Amino acid sequence: MRPDILNPLFAEVTALKGVGPGLAKPLDKLGLHRVIDVAFHLPTGFVDRVAREELDMADAGRIIAITLTARDYRSGNGRGPTRVHATDAHGNYISLIYFGGHPGWAKKLLPIGEPRRVSGRLEIYGQELQMVHPDYVLPLEEAPDVGEREAIYPLSEGITSRRMGQLAAQALERAPELPEWIEPGLLAKQGWPGWREALVRVHADPSDMKARARLAYDEIFANQLALMLVRQSSRARRGRALAGDGRLRDALQLPYQLTGAQARTVREIEGDLAQAQPMLRLLQGDVGSGKTLVAALALLTAVEAGAQGALLAPTEILARQHYDTLRRQLGGLPVEIAVLTGRDKGRVREATLMGLASGAIHILIGTHAIFQEAVNYKDLALVVVDEQHRFGVAQRMMLQAKAERPPHLLAMTATPIPRTLTLANYGEMDVSQLDEMPPGRQPIETRVISEDRLSEVVDALGRHLSDGGQAYWVCPLVEESEKSDLAAAEARAETLRARFGDRVGLIHGRMKGPEKDAVMNAFANGQIGVLVATTVIEVGVDVPNATLIVIEHADRFGLAQLHQLRGRVGRGSGRSICLLIRGNQLGETSRARLALMRETNDGFRIAEEDLRLRGAGELLGTRQSGEAGFRLATAEMLVDLLPVATDDARLLIDRDGGLHGPRGQAARTALYLFERDAGVALLRSG
Ligand code: ADP
Ligand code: MG
Repeated sequence: MRPDILNPLFAEVTALKGVGPGLAKPLDKLGLHRVIDVAFHLPTGFVDRVAREELDMADAGRIIAITLTARDYRSGNGRGPTRVHATDAHGNYISLIYFGGHPGWAKKLLPIGEPRRVSGRLEIYGQELQMVHPDYVLPLEEAPDVGEREAIYPLSEGITSRRMGQLAAQALERAPELPEWIEPGLLAKQGWPGWREALVRVHADPSDMKARARLAYDEIFANQLALMLVRQSSRARRGRALAGDGRLRDALQLPYQLTGAQARTVREIEGDLAQAQPMLRLLQGDVGSGKTLVAALALLTAVEAGAQGALLAPTEILARQHYDTLRRQLGGLPVEIAVLTGRDKGRVREATLMGLASGAIHILIGTHAIFQEAVNYKDLALVVVDEQHRFGVAQRMMLQAKAERPPHLLAMTATPIPRTLTLANYGEMDVSQLDEMPPGRQPIETRVISEDRLSEVVDALGRHLSDGGQAYWVCPLVEESEKSDLAAAEARAETLRARFGDRVGLIHGRMKGPEKDAVMNAFANGQIGVLVATTVIEVGVDVPNATLIVIEHADRFGLAQLHQLRGRVGRGSGRSICLLIRGNQLGETSRARLALMRETNDGFRIAEEDLRLRGAGELLGTRQSGEAGFRLATAEMLVDLLPVATDDARLLIDRDGGLHGPRGQAARTALYLFERDAGVALLRSG
């Protein structure tokens, strides 16, 4: 149970004064649902807003607050901006400029002859002073006091920084003093403030690096501690030793030999499975390195031992594809395989559930639907999670916590991430690496092409199709919104259809399952020549005859994601090409990033360099930080603080009595505060 002291922070955001339906939407867009989310929504910078009595050219470029009186309006006839002519107390003139608004609105805001408190950035235009879209225009009695420094928050449409600051202030009032969980020696050495003080300081002054570091440290510490607790409790629990006799694996007819890396990894996994201690193993292997086969062999081992195995995939497409692959591969063997996703209903679903409960089904493949309440296994002893980075640490922990006898866990990921991030994301796991590609693969040739030359790209696609090739055409992530994503893909499919007719297919995340399958099947068996897609194809899809991939607006993707997308080709023995279409105006970093893609196919190198190129201060989005989902720690802080946090967490467990000593009680609060409490839950059940 979450300590009561934290309850005010975990209340719904509507508990804050002034948060009604109007603000709910912009807050929701920012992912701020609870008070704690607001408290952890940290400012990214600040403005120095100064109060002035008189307009002064010397203040140009600064953000000022001043009392102004409107004198007349020059409303833009038709399309131009609305200009409000105003004077300060000394008769100096300034123009307040509004683009795109209705003139009547400015008149209401600034009635002629009535003084208003106005704030915004002062600019010089020709010989005149002007202010474009003031930050606020308020009746004098409502005007806020001007502080030295005002925090700037990441925003969405419908909320201002000032409003966000007010909400943050309320959230801070609800933040309690918390017991100290950091080791005293470390705290003294770093000179960090206490948790609450740090939070208050960061909101007041975003440049307060000591306070920022403290908060980031707390988050990393909670994360590392949780992972360690999971590992510890897992070591203490008894699972089921799976000793296969080899009868199924030996009967498996493969058209190829295992690579050395596959063989080594299979041995590591078999070694783990033979122990009663549940396996916690991460299998890292670049796209195309052959993880599926390793998973299949592990699952067969479980079946040989008389138990059941499950394979969890992040998307419907991928689950069905794995199902088809395994059915084909294990075709001649006496193994019953079933698939279960959110889409399966009625009788088929009932039959699957019964088969699982009776043990008639040996291997279940599916999406998260395979862990719903209603799904009961006779003897589930191995869970394989494919594309683990698409799930969360918490989900992984739940999986273990739920089972009475914890299953062996094999997590697989193709996202090569820097070592630091591996420790933060998978610190509780042993790691195997597939660092060798199946033979005969040719490296993918990558070219970066300006969007001006799109028609040449379409010509090249035409030649590729006439030669019997197939291709992916990936449309960009526009403004993080699924809707506009879709619009771009639909438009592109239209233009390509005008030229290539019905050889063009379209697939996107909003399509219903059966529709997606139909398109995917048509592509897999060659009816469709070019598959226009949003990023739904990012993970796992395997069509070896597709040897060309075009990625529009490549500069808008993260490198790890580009690498994943590129991995859709180069799966057969033919030469594959990846065309990265870039915008016209690219900054230094974007150029360097795309150049890196051109230069190497090594996912790990890409990951390390990307971390470096993204540079200081930039917050890691959930995408880059992987599943650990850090909100306060940046990449840089993670690199700096992770070793310290890991040591401190270990000290707490080994020397200070784990969660039971006095510091442990405080650390428990930290686990709940950062929602790493699955670790606590596990410890209790263990
Ligand atoms: P990923 O690691 O990205 O999941 P897959 O398991 O989808 O990779 O494998 C990619 C392709 O490589 C598949 O078509 C698979 O059949 C093939 N493959 C796997 N192992 C080998 C091997 N040892 N030799 C040749 N081809 C292999
Ligand atoms: Mg795969």
